[in-house]
Amino acid sequence: MSELPGIVIAGASGRMGQMLIRSVLESDRMRLVGALEREGHDWVGRDVGEAMGGVALGVHVFDDPLEPMAKAQAVIDFTAPEATIALSGIAAQARAAHIIGTTGMSDDQIARLEPASRHSPIVRAGNMSLGVNLLTQLVKQVAAALDEDFDIEVVEAHHHHKVDAPSGTALMLGEAAAEGRGVDLAQVRDAARDGITGARKRGDIGFSVIRGGDIVGEHEVLFAGAGERITLKHMATDRALFAKGALRAALWAQDKAPGQYDMLDVLGLRG
Ligand code: NAD
Repeated sequence: MSELPGIVIAGASGRMGQMLIRSVLESDRMRLVGALEREGHDWVGRDVGEAMGGVALGVHVFDDPLEPMAKAQAVIDFTAPEATIALSGIAAQARAAHIIGTTGMSDDQIARLEPASRHSPIVRAGNMSLGVNLLTQLVKQVAAALDEDFDIEVVEAHHHHKVDAPSGTALMLGEAAAEGRGVDLAQVRDAARDGITGARKRGDIGFSVIRGGDIVGEHEVLFAGAGERITLKHMATDRALFAKGALRAALWAQDKAPGQYDMLDVLGLRG
């Protein structure tokens, strides 16, 4: 029997990193071959299991991706934009799949992933859950059915540590609405960047953001017309959901040609 695919987790000590490590250890379809943290982090050089307060696993935390990536078929990366770009080059060198959950990347940063995707598959998604990816398809469908008498507002809520706003998921939903309505995606990205509060023009796709406590992630797309409203909503109550999607993406990507993919490809939802 061939060996199980080797997985590296980047951002090991993070909220998602620790969840991903646990999920890989529980899986009988992959094995953990290393973990990554930023230079200077106190987990670097330690055993992953001990760093997480458990028993030694014989798997270490590195700050230089080259060493663990030599043994890996995939790296699952929930870190920060510049870390993700740097890691894409190393994953490409190792011919390993790069599963990117990192959000808050600018268009320019996303464009910088392209050279790596010529050598190995990249799966990047602002949300790795089945529910949200299904929701993007529903949003596209509803936006296509309604005319500009309906304003579209994406409302999102997250825990108070979240760095980017609006969330990567909110952008995915806004872009799905733009696609359905047949308006320019760039306009939606500008709306997200230029201000998440304030007046809207008729038919605008806007964003509203709530931050507080330990909210894992809630997204609502509101289609507001005259005298009626439609809302489509997703609530994530456990980040294990995102880890599950990321592991599924890592397994899916094993036999894929180099290129850029998202969770619609992984889940077979691309319509
Ligand atoms: P976090 O701050 O808890 O964890 C990020 C970790 O990355 C930290 O431990 C940090 O030290 C580490 N890191 C930073 N630079 C690094 C580098 N160069 N090399 C290795 N590690 C490095 O954040 P989090 O809540 O775990 O979220 C991480 C990212 O994932 C965010 O962008 C978040 O929005 C995103 N996210 C995506 C999904 C999804 O489904 N796509 C779900 C949840 C979170």
